[in-house]
Amino acid sequence: MSKKDYYEILGVGKDASKDEIKKAFRQLARKYHPDVNKSTDAPEKFKEVTKAYEVLSDPQKRAQYDQFGEADPNEQQGGFGGFGGQGFGGGDFGGFGDIFDQIFNGGGRRRNPNAPRQGADLQYEMSITFEEAAFGKTTEIRVPKEETCSNCHGTGAKPGTKPESCSHCHGTGQLNTEQNTPFGRIVNRRVCPYCQGTGKIVKDPCRACGGKGKVKVNRKIEVKIPAGIDDGQQIRLSGQGEAGVNGGPTGDLYIVFAVKPHKVFKRDGDNVYLEVPLSFAQVALGDEIEVPTLYGKVKLRIPAGTQTGTNFRLKGKGIKNVRGYGQGDEHVTIRVVTPKHLTEEEKALFRKLEGTKDGAADNENESIFDKMKKKVFKAD
Ligand SMILES: [Zn+2]
Ligand SMILES: [Zn+2]
Repeated sequence: MSKKDYYEILGVGKDASKDEIKKAFRQLARKYHPDVNKSTDAPEKFKEVTKAYEVLSDPQKRAQYDQFGEADPNEQQGGFGGFGGQGFGGGDFGGFGDIFDQIFNGGGRRRNPNAPRQGADLQYEMSITFEEAAFGKTTEIRVPKEETCSNCHGTGAKPGTKPESCSHCHGTGQLNTEQNTPFGRIVNRRVCPYCQGTGKIVKDPCRACGGKGKVKVNRKIEVKIPAGIDDGQQIRLSGQGEAGVNGGPTGDLYIVFAVKPHKVFKRDGDNVYLEVPLSFAQVALGDEIEVPTLYGKVKLRIPAGTQTGTNFRLKGKGIKNVRGYGQGDEHVTIRVVTPKHLTEEEKALFRKLEGTKDGAADNENESIFDKMKKKVFKAD
């Protein structure tokens, strides 16, 4: 068979949009589907159309095809391999839903129950402290999971014996039911209930795993918490998930971090926030105070006349970026605290302050205390 141009096969122009290509493919696939079209060249045509669509519907493959012609021949052998998740809803195809389900979900490429399959991914939520998130830590967790039984190496059969092919599904793991429709015969497949889709029956089960081929273990796993990780972020531990099937690769383990709140610090991204309560006297007269940071206490000078709500930035005292993009800051917010309980002596001092006139002030009738209040509360 001479090689035809994929665009020609689908009957679309070189500049056809994704939708046009899809539409053309649907029409042709309906026309040539072997369940509908009984002519002898239908299967070949259908294959050709599918192949063309497989290439032209994938932007990467299409670009490669436009540039170099036919794509890598190895890729072509997969047949319907590329269609897994493209969302061919039954609704779009109307009565063809079943046919297409069958093509795209294993009808065209009959799923072999004995083929290796990847094990399930696992998710583990790990609660860590604010500091652990900021600085990272290496720790161990115990993860309950299924691993391949070492006694039977996953076959489920007693060592020295082998599982037999299931006689109900002839080892395919699937049972077919046929249905006649105006479009032709539609084959529905379901999982074989006798072998649970494995295609195999274990007559003499392994005693260690009861014939399952897998055992539940409480596996100790080392976790390196990356410095700078934040609440809700996750890491992937490749190959630490559940055992694969039929020798397939192991799944992955995802660790999702839940960071506990800190007593005084709050966090936003890589920045740390802290509120510091100060007295009237401290903000009015100025002071030098010590503030906590993740790296120990540091001195902070409070200028005279500082208002409540004023922010000071302590550069580099935040959290190291988890991807290595620098380091956050610590933001200190001043809160002026109004005293609740005053001694008689303190009350007398405040009254005196309230009555004091500041001759140099722009307003003759304003006391120092009035001015201080104005300054302090201006920000609010
Ligand atoms: Zn076993
Ligand atoms: Zn079976």
